[in-house]
Amino acid sequence: MIDISGLTKHFGGTPVLDGIDLQIADGERVVVIGPSGTGKSTLLRCLNFLDVPQAGQISIGDVTVDAAKARKSDILALRRRTAMVFQNYALFANKTAKQNIMEALVTVHKRPVEEAEKRAMAVLAETGLADKGDSFPSALSGGQQQRVGIGRAMALEAELMLFDEPTSALDPEWVGEVLDLMRAVAERKQTMLIVTHEMQFAREIADRIIFMDGGKIVESGSPSEIFGAPKDARLQKFLKRVG
Ligand code: ADP
Ligand code: MG
Repeated sequence: MIDISGLTKHFGGTPVLDGIDLQIADGERVVVIGPSGTGKSTLLRCLNFLDVPQAGQISIGDVTVDAAKARKSDILALRRRTAMVFQNYALFANKTAKQNIMEALVTVHKRPVEEAEKRAMAVLAETGLADKGDSFPSALSGGQQQRVGIGRAMALEAELMLFDEPTSALDPEWVGEVLDLMRAVAERKQTMLIVTHEMQFAREIADRIIFMDGGKIVESGSPSEIFGAPKDARLQKFLKRVG
């Protein structure tokens, strides 16, 4: 169970997250949509303290962190319960696919190297990249790089997986294989919080869709509610534009 309350972030004087309240059940798949510049990435980044929120509470499983008085040990504990997939893959260019997957297992999760290597091999097989373990990112297609990015997150077996527009940087030809891998992750009842502009995919995979605008959750509901009967004028306008 994930419980976010009053999450607030501003950069300088500009509010970017304006008191976000959100609960996510175990195994639930929540998709976040909304115009760009609305705080979607910041929301994901605040959940693992890549961005530091100024106020609010975040509970993931048995860890609760109060933003206003977060200790380093709390932040590390929270971070270990999340895994993030980035728009631009964020792979280490000087590490192979296998080493990329092992990295956080060893450094953040303190797993023995042999165990991390075994896990990385298993994940490479699951992502269809069994023969690419020794390849560097520059030798992989965009789709393969993002599958390594997702594999790296899968390997952590985190309570919450965060996806920040995982297909937005990809050439269209690679989008399908990345969405397929995300479907496979979803089938394992993994709790997922996904920012995406792939509306068809959102409709198909989401248990719940959240529409953000101006640092707030403006509307949330099932895919059929959000796409079939949007209430807020801003959501209606957004859907017209992207649909
Ligand atoms: P989205 O992901 O919805 O496009 P972001 O969360 O990336 O939106 O950004 C929300 C707002 O916060 C934007 O106006 C952006 O310019 C601003 N912002 C994001 N990161 C920073 C930062 N590190 N410093 C200053 N402003 C930032
Ligand atoms: Mg973003």
